[in-house]
Amino acid sequence: MPSEFALIDAIARRAAVRDDVVLGIGDDAAILDVPAGRRLVVAMDTLNTGVHFPDDTAPADIGWKALAVNLSDLAAMGAQPAWCTLSLSLPASDAGWIDGFLDGFLALAALHDVALVGGDTTRGPLSVCVTAHGFVAPDCALRRDAARVGDDVWITGALGDAAGALTQWHAGDERDPVLRARLERPTPRVAAGLALVGLANAAVDVSDGLLADLGHVCMASGVGAEIELDALPVSPALATAFDAARRRILQCTGGDDYELCFTAARRHREALTAIVGNGDVVMTRIGRIVPGNAVVAFDGDGNPWQPPRRGFDHFEG
Ligand code: ADP
Ligand code: MG
Repeated sequence: MPSEFALIDAIARRAAVRDDVVLGIGDDAAILDVPAGRRLVVAMDTLNTGVHFPDDTAPADIGWKALAVNLSDLAAMGAQPAWCTLSLSLPASDAGWIDGFLDGFLALAALHDVALVGGDTTRGPLSVCVTAHGFVAPDCALRRDAARVGDDVWITGALGDAAGALTQWHAGDERDPVLRARLERPTPRVAAGLALVGLANAAVDVSDGLLADLGHVCMASGVGAEIELDALPVSPALATAFDAARRRILQCTGGDDYELCFTAARRHREALTAIVGNGDVVMTRIGRIVPGNAVVAFDGDGNPWQPPRRGFDHFEG
């Protein structure tokens, strides 16, 4: 079995570099050059086997997702990603597993010009912890506490796909490949997050479910929100696989979609629609920010609707 140092060496050999990495993998710590006039934005997320991905998930998919969820957090801040670090806890020193993992991890890193600059490698239950580092201009970050009464609420992409894939997996049903890809290879909405700077007020990425994550924005901003269920974007794959009632629950409470939910003043509707025309992802207006402190979803008849549970919480029974 390769030693810890051989594993780290194998990682270092594959990691890309950037001009702003003064010192990367190999010393006690990395030295990085933050551009003048930019703030450093830092996010960290952990994936644990059995909790965040099914046990039979391919190493490359775990690698992709471990970075994707972190880039999604940077996107939700409107930040430009630059660097990341990687803490790996592995049950055994398995060079083949690491190689597969890096295939996914580094493929996504390359798409966003992100350099892996350090990390930690230990023995233990399979667990992957990543930090991602990016830049934002002063006072330009998309914060959770910046939603204003009268704002529209928007969402990128489509909702419920990842939860749909998970539901099929739990039920032992055949897994739709499109839904499955949305669960295993989520697309961090980095370009959308950058395009929203100057237009959006508040933003959050949907990792725990729309109602729960929008609830965090409302709590931080001291406002409420109204959502129109019929306006929620649905992918053709989800529409085919689930009936309307089950779909609604997946769209409102399903985690792991990594879409951006954001609020923006009405005067920016046209500019936001123009981004949609340009960009790689659709943005849909799904509701509005109102006085109060609750997120309320309304059905097509204008009746409030409650899901059986609002979203995912690791410490909730
Ligand atoms: P130390 O004992 O000083 O903490 P390590 O032996 O843990 O050093 O790490 C040596 C170098 O390898 C450091 O630069 C560290 O950032 C890097 N490194 C260790 N594990 C990883 C990993 N999984 N991914 C990327 N870099 C790593
Ligand atoms: Mg050291």
